[in-house]
Amino acid sequence: MDRLKMLKRIIAAAAIALAAVSGSSSDMVRLPASAQDTSSAEDPSSSAEDASPEDEGTEEEKKAREEYNKKLSKISKKQKKVAEELEQLEDTEENEQQKQMLILEKISLINEKSGVVNSYLTQMEMQLAAERQSNLELSEDIEEGIAMYKKRLRALYLAGDMSYGDVLLGAGDFYDMLMRSELLRRVTEYDAKTIDALVEKKGIYDGQLRSMQRKQGEYDEQALALERERAELAVLYDNNAEAKKLLLAEQAAAAERERKFEYEVSNYSSGAMNEILLGSYSGPEDDAFRIETEKEANAKLDELHAAINVRKAAKQTIPDDECLYNFKWPVKNHTEISSGVGPRWGLYHKGLDIPGEGGFPISAAEAGTVIMTNNTCTHNYGKDYSCGCGGGYGNFVIIDHGNGFLTLYGHMTKTEVSEGDKVKCGQEIGLMGSTGWSTGSHLHFELRFGGYVTNPANFVTY
Ligand SMILES: [Zn+2]
Ligand SMILES: [Zn+2]
Repeated sequence: MDRLKMLKRIIAAAAIALAAVSGSSSDMVRLPASAQDTSSAEDPSSSAEDASPEDEGTEEEKKAREEYNKKLSKISKKQKKVAEELEQLEDTEENEQQKQMLILEKISLINEKSGVVNSYLTQMEMQLAAERQSNLELSEDIEEGIAMYKKRLRALYLAGDMSYGDVLLGAGDFYDMLMRSELLRRVTEYDAKTIDALVEKKGIYDGQLRSMQRKQGEYDEQALALERERAELAVLYDNNAEAKKLLLAEQAAAAERERKFEYEVSNYSSGAMNEILLGSYSGPEDDAFRIETEKEANAKLDELHAAINVRKAAKQTIPDDECLYNFKWPVKNHTEISSGVGPRWGLYHKGLDIPGEGGFPISAAEAGTVIMTNNTCTHNYGKDYSCGCGGGYGNFVIIDHGNGFLTLYGHMTKTEVSEGDKVKCGQEIGLMGSTGWSTGSHLHFELRFGGYVTNPANFVTY
């Protein structure tokens, strides 16, 4: 490639790369038309702006969304049918009972839908958090690359009477000036490569940004839909005595189940479990407490990460069995969440439910010490009651990661570690199952701080 062409490309690419980090996509640096033309015509990799416009995420995300939409449309169909039947029903006394039944069905369908949407929202929160992290790393990378390249440019421009800043950020005529400059002679293959690498990274960065924006939009939309469903539900309950009665009965039953569960936990191992797993959770008001706990946990994590970074900067070797407080997803290749943390029909779900096939390996989210396990439950099948084993958690493992962080893995077919064992991050600790109070094969995963419940989705990355 001749030097003139290469120079044109470098100038165009540098402008694009700079625009990337400044946060503006295209209008920060006005390029001379000729430089722009050259850049897009000659090297497709440098035209980072027009990557695939239809960004639908990975295959896995697409599949999850299809699955989710399928579930929703199934419920929607039923909802439509109920609504039609309700409409056709005349307001007579003999129709009253049938009408009641239909309203109850309507309520139960909204409840079902709300559960489906809620789980999907948790899943999206996880994905968004992962992408935010990776994009942050990428932008730091790009910024570093550009800082280095600026140094390089400064060296190149020493001969001229224009500062490198003016050249990079200046008006359109700087290109002409460069054409005549000493720079032409000095441009090397090295510069082209550096800029190509930056431009490529910028392309990835842009792609991720688009994906995150799309996801955030989708998330907001679904969250709004959920709000609307819940508002509708509240009205239905208020206007319908029979439904209200049933709701209260269901809440009472849930509270009873909750009491039973608390009882099993508090009695497990002569109360030892009750000393580890703190807090009583039963309703929406507990969310505020959980959010407080998460704030404290986050502050602690910042402190721990800072200390680890200091050691890394001092080139200290960190043993591979030390907890770095970067919690990882405990079930490989299984990103679906069937139930998130929070109030669920009168119960407070304290962890994430990650469904999967029985016998699938479960791995430790971080390094730590196993402080409690149970391996005695033989009731490894779906049930809507508790067999009482392991305080309702069936066969479980609790890992202490130090500094107040605990993770709990419930309902395993069997555990593969015992009390006192040191485990590494990602180490297999047991197999997925349906022991204890579990309706089907899944991992119930809790992350606690100071003994109190947090939402693992806010701390764990895929
Ligand atoms: Zn059991
Ligand atoms: Zn669960």
